[in-house]
Amino acid sequence: MSELHFSQRINDWHQQHGRKTLPWQLDKSLYKTWVSEVMLQQTQVATVIPYFNKFMRSFPSISYLANAPIDEVLHHWTGLGYYARARNLHKSAQIIRDQFDGQFPEEFDDVIALPGIGRSTAGAVLSLTLNKHFPILDGNVKRVLTRHQKIEGWTGEKKVENQLWSLAEKLTPKTDTQIFNQAMMDMGAMICTRSKPKCNECPVSSDCLAFADDVMTNYPTPKAKKKIPVKTAVMLVLKNKQQSIQLIQRPPVGIWGGLWCFPEFENSEAALNSLQSMGIEQYQTTELATFRHTFSHYHFDISPILVEFSEQDTQQVMEQSDQLWYNLQQPQKIGLAAATKKILSSVNKVINKE
Ligand code: SF4
Repeated sequence: MSELHFSQRINDWHQQHGRKTLPWQLDKSLYKTWVSEVMLQQTQVATVIPYFNKFMRSFPSISYLANAPIDEVLHHWTGLGYYARARNLHKSAQIIRDQFDGQFPEEFDDVIALPGIGRSTAGAVLSLTLNKHFPILDGNVKRVLTRHQKIEGWTGEKKVENQLWSLAEKLTPKTDTQIFNQAMMDMGAMICTRSKPKCNECPVSSDCLAFADDVMTNYPTPKAKKKIPVKTAVMLVLKNKQQSIQLIQRPPVGIWGGLWCFPEFENSEAALNSLQSMGIEQYQTTELATFRHTFSHYHFDISPILVEFSEQDTQQVMEQSDQLWYNLQQPQKIGLAAATKKILSSVNKVINKE
């Protein structure tokens, strides 16, 4: 494979077909590229655009982001998932404010030292904004390279990853790195797509080994599936007569760290027993539909119980720092776990029926 030839074909394709007007590509800055790259780590472009625009309106600079309460940042992330990304953005913004005078660093070693930034994201931020010569290896690029060279093995394996990095280093041109990296990401998203690659429109199909053998979708090799365990819990959804719902904040680390959720119990008996200790005696229960939330390492089957209790008991349910009454009519701006959002929408349906 001719290296020059490969990058030239990719860049020529980008000139005609690549994406050049995404919100973070207009009036570029290291800050905008960084936020967009972090949002794009696990999420598609179309989903990211409205989140990105809203995020920039609320946090127009690194110092706005650094000085914002974490709850507000998590609120802007609600629905995007993988909340560690938002916490790391916030933490990094504070480091940049305190150690770099609020200016996003331009040295690779400083960038990669920030929380939540790996080699590919650091390379993407510096190459896409400043045209610095660093290769990238995100999911889209991995897909193009593994197919083009028929690279076997799961890309999460160190050996395979190292092989891909060497290839990316070899193929990334010293000039026009910015265009090449953007073009490779666009190629993966628009042409060399997961299930039905448009090989007929691909600028590198003439020497693509997977295309030659018509085995495109065999690459990248999927991770060997292992059975993941199932955990179950009952979530207690306590509602008072003021149409407010009790939420508790989860500890900062672990699943849904720092987000707001419902108290969890082993079974419904334990959930209802807990009402006694809160002095709630008069109440009405409704079982909401059980649903499954899947984390990378286990399935979580959640059975929510809605408990509506009477006026006179309201005062006895104490406020604590890690709990709040979430007003359904005027919701507070806080970060909600995915399961919380789902349950709140079931609660709203029940209430609207009443
Ligand atoms: S020819 Fe097809 S499989 Fe090969 S890189 Fe292009 S789009 Fe991907």
